[in-house]
Amino acid sequence: MPTYQADAIVLRRLDYGEADRILTLLTREYGKLGAIAKGARRAKARTGSSLDLFGRSRMMLARGRNLDVVAQVERQGDVRHIAGDLHRTAYACLVAEVVDKVLEDRHPVDDIFALVVTTLGQLNDPERQPRADAAWFLMRILDLLGYVPQLQECPGCSRPLPEAAAWFSPLLGGVLCADCGSHEQSGSPVSVNALKVLRLMAANDAELFARLRLRPELLHEVEQALEAQLEYHLDRRLKSFDFIRSIR
Ligand SMILES: [Zn+2]
Repeated sequence: MPTYQADAIVLRRLDYGEADRILTLLTREYGKLGAIAKGARRAKARTGSSLDLFGRSRMMLARGRNLDVVAQVERQGDVRHIAGDLHRTAYACLVAEVVDKVLEDRHPVDDIFALVVTTLGQLNDPERQPRADAAWFLMRILDLLGYVPQLQECPGCSRPLPEAAAWFSPLLGGVLCADCGSHEQSGSPVSVNALKVLRLMAANDAELFARLRLRPELLHEVEQALEAQLEYHLDRRLKSFDFIRSIR
């Protein structure tokens, strides 16, 4: 069987048969792909412990008839702080779900691979706030997909948005001024502080974002806007958000 190497992250893992695992991998070289790790659940499996969910490794894969087969795994780093914390795991699941939904099989997007590596590294850092890191990831992936909401001019009347409470409407493309928002049925209220945070996130100002001490209510507003924007463009619900809410 012809083989190939890939820098891979395990996005999803499914037990299969007696001892196998079916994996959804995000690879730098080939994008998203499905693979099978035979015997990975056996105690002595050579590949087993290296195939942690959200873990990154250098892999050798063999072309299979249906699924490619994981032949060798060389683990790079660990994800123990994600695995050992329910909240960090929930946010990593969100990252994996979003990436799985936005990518087609075997269509590599360099920037998305790099973003996922960075985000999972942050989620695995016990010093960091996973909720803020996950929100930052959502804005970055919207940016890579070209779906950043309009935050400077009202999409209803095209006037510059004042620094004031407004309305967020994915349907109309972003934040509506108070006038337009009060006439529309589709928006949800967004405070002036949430608008400011969304703007600096959209401007990719990571340093300033890292210095903000975001209160849960404010982070909640920001998350809601990003969730609505993403689900509108993907045209589907993301289950991980419900899971995150259920454990909060
Ligand atoms: Zn307006």
